[in-house]
Amino acid sequence: MTLGMQPIAPAPTTFGQPYGWVYVDGSFMPAAEARLSVLANVVSYGTGTFEGIRATWNAERRQLFLLEAPAHYDRMARSARILGMELPYGTADLVAATVNLLRRNDVRTDAYVRPLLMLAGEQLAVRMHDTKSHLFIAATPMPAAYIDTAGVRCMVSTWRRAPDTAVPNRAKVIGSYVGAALAKTEAVRRGFDEAILLTADGYVAEATTSNIFVRVGREWVTPPATDDILEGITRGQVIGLLETDFGVTVDQRRVHRSELYACDEALLCGTAATVVPVTDVDGRPLGPGRPGEVTLALQRELRAIARRDGERHHEWTTPVHEEAEHD
Ligand code: PMP
Repeated sequence: MTLGMQPIAPAPTTFGQPYGWVYVDGSFMPAAEARLSVLANVVSYGTGTFEGIRATWNAERRQLFLLEAPAHYDRMARSARILGMELPYGTADLVAATVNLLRRNDVRTDAYVRPLLMLAGEQLAVRMHDTKSHLFIAATPMPAAYIDTAGVRCMVSTWRRAPDTAVPNRAKVIGSYVGAALAKTEAVRRGFDEAILLTADGYVAEATTSNIFVRVGREWVTPPATDDILEGITRGQVIGLLETDFGVTVDQRRVHRSELYACDEALLCGTAATVVPVTDVDGRPLGPGRPGEVTLALQRELRAIARRDGERHHEWTTPVHEEAEHD
């Protein structure tokens, strides 16, 4: 191995194969028939945007619930606008298409929905204009824990988050994920679970596919949207729940690297990750070095909301199947 890195152990959990049906440009087709040319613009240049939406199976109610589907498609619309791409359907249509896709595949397990809007023209041209795009939605089974939800050990990456002046951070740009992939692999090869990326000028931004929150005493802090983060939908939920459930106002402000080492508790949050405790950063245990109480309470709460267990925030979830009970 180069750079004294360790080989990577096989990931304990991986996404499964996509379900049999996918949605392509307004209609459903077998996944095996959905094709993208190797010459498509997106393949060479990463020109496109994607989303990831969680669907959670509630076995008692025999119902599948999408989590914050409209918010994800609203963000895709903003991403498309920033990239100058046309998203030919509105949010309500895309949520309906997603519900129909999950019904058609008869999904009755936790799943991950993957909408992609990508430039697919085959001309030799690095540009956003004058080339056709495709909208594609697939769903895959979701492994029980995408990241180890019992707690992750993080390193501050040697890779920095690309500044918004180089790649628009408010858009979930396909090509921008090369930075996240490099940071993740570096972290795993060095024996950590996850990487935390700083901004180009050295402030804490986010982890590879999740946002970060830290607690100092009773105060919770998270980097502001203007510090080159993707403004996560889960981040918005965590801010809301910390305020309503825990009576804490979250300070959205610049965070120093040394605050990561000195804080009493930290968590990562994102659609795939849900809420994950950070137990140490760069080998320094945080607080008592075990998952924080508030983090674990938030994790429980968000999981319950995702499967519509209890009375709270039903407006965040969309039931998929017709025959199950509605409320
Ligand atoms: N930051 C990045 C770079 C991400 O890819 C994600 C996952 N979409 C997040 C943060 C968390 O966003 P969300 O809560 O909307 O999934």
